[in-house]
Amino acid sequence: MTALNPLPAVDGLAVLEARLREDLDWLELPAPSWVPAHNVDGQRVLDVAIIGAGMAGLAASAELRLLGIDNQRLFDQAPEGQEGPWVTYARMQTLRSPKQLTGPALRLPALTFRAWYEAQFSRKQWDALYKIPRTQWMEYLRWYRRVLDLPVRNDTRVDILRPRRDGVIELDLVHEPANHGGRARRETALARHVVLATGREGLGGPFIPAVARDLPLHLRAHSSDTIDFDALRGKRVGVVGASASAFDNAATALEAGAAGVNLFVRRDALPRINKLTGIGSPGLVHGFANLPDEWKWRLLHYSALTQAPPPRDSVLRVARFPYAKLHLSSPLTRVGHEGDTVFVDTPRGRYALDYLIFATGFHSEIDTRDEFALIAPHVRRWRDRFEPAPELSSDDLGSSPDLDRNFALQERIVGTCPALSRIHSFNHGASLTHGKVAGDIPAISDGAQRLARAIAAMLFDADREAHYAALQAFDTAELAGDEWADAAADVRTIDTTA
Ligand SMILES: Cc1cc2nc3c(=O)[nH]c(=O)nc-3n(C[C@H](O)[C@H](O)[C@H](O)COP(=O)(O)OP(=O)(O)OC[C@H]3O[C@@H](n4cnc5c(N)ncnc54)[C@H](O)[C@@H]3O)c2cc1C
Repeated sequence: MTALNPLPAVDGLAVLEARLREDLDWLELPAPSWVPAHNVDGQRVLDVAIIGAGMAGLAASAELRLLGIDNQRLFDQAPEGQEGPWVTYARMQTLRSPKQLTGPALRLPALTFRAWYEAQFSRKQWDALYKIPRTQWMEYLRWYRRVLDLPVRNDTRVDILRPRRDGVIELDLVHEPANHGGRARRETALARHVVLATGREGLGGPFIPAVARDLPLHLRAHSSDTIDFDALRGKRVGVVGASASAFDNAATALEAGAAGVNLFVRRDALPRINKLTGIGSPGLVHGFANLPDEWKWRLLHYSALTQAPPPRDSVLRVARFPYAKLHLSSPLTRVGHEGDTVFVDTPRGRYALDYLIFATGFHSEIDTRDEFALIAPHVRRWRDRFEPAPELSSDDLGSSPDLDRNFALQERIVGTCPALSRIHSFNHGASLTHGKVAGDIPAISDGAQRLARAIAAMLFDADREAHYAALQAFDTAELAGDEWADAAADVRTIDTTA
């Protein structure tokens, strides 16, 4: 990894921030605030509440603000600067995404990672940079939030979403800072629109294969758990899966001094080609949502079937350890334990281990999330209305919410929960309806712009009477009436109040 020498003398970031302000000024952004205020029970109702202040939530918030929707707030249960996976459970050294992707920059050059990086470390070091170090990406996201002054409330978990009869959505919040001394503060917020920017596992949770669910918790973890790797020193560790996370967790265990790591992979070979990147284009980004359902399903089914390979760096990071063993064609057929020794059976043998890590991804079963308990029974999933050809069946795709063009959830039975049309799923669950625009770095700005424009349009429509009244009341004259000598005599007065 390249050593970083910050630029001397001038404060590069201050210069960049001044440039960003000027760019926004030239573009007349943000637009002035335009949404009429709504009050209920003496409380100002947020136009948009965003659950999750990871990259997706921040990008959505930023674009809403550029569009003049500033009565908004983000809530994140994580402490400030710890949102998302980057400095919590992600264990890779660098991002998989190529460094030049513009991510959440919303087409503002001064907001890109590259601008931020060059401002601090020079163009030369940018050229020399191989890939973006994981923790540095988080530093960039912290800067992004700060420089745009996004209204995040950290340490605040949304406990439950409650659609009310008056159309407003109530959020029960639990404010619980790490140093709270055991006292959590409960409060509520009211919102007209809610964006679920809850991340990769945001509509579900970690997936553990059924065969291993009875294994006691102190003998296993999911890759998204906090894992005490120091405690694995000298231990026999198993890792299940062939994903990037499988290799990064295996490497972290080995680097922490594990006695050995066995990687169990169902497939008979590691996937080697990241298929979906092969057709990446603005066409895919903007065209996916308009495809017929059969084609959306077909593309994502093929992509899941062929699976993205683990990054070469992650595989090499593991392969350099002689006591790392890769077991292909080795699905777990049985998992048990005797005392604190875990036994794993595969078609190729039985293995004794001290600890098992599941890098087996996430599911999107919304009814497993407590905060969505009141809305989940009403949410229409793809499996409720779409039946793929038998050879294309997929529980994972079938559990995806069937979103509308505004990223909003839809009712399974019409009329049972109309508020769903204002609850927008801006997370992995959106992929089958909208394409991969609501999570990963490559198209997050496109997704945020699509979402924010949809919300702007809905807010305008919902307030059309107020806007019509404002249209009628508007009386700033552009002509003074004295431009034409005979104006008073010749020009008919038009009654603008009709
Ligand atoms: C190990 C790992 C590596 C990855 N590497 C890459 C990569 O290299 N390139 C790439 O493009 N993508 C990568 N991804 C995908 C990555 O998740 C996304 O790019 C990015 O994190 C998406 O941002 P997000 O805002 O959607 O979700 P997140 O960053 O996960 O943010 C979601 C936020 O929602 C909050 N939240 C959830 N529920 C609640 C609640 N009820 N109340 C309050 N807050 C809540 C969480 O605390 C979290 O901070 C990786 C993912 C993982 C797991």
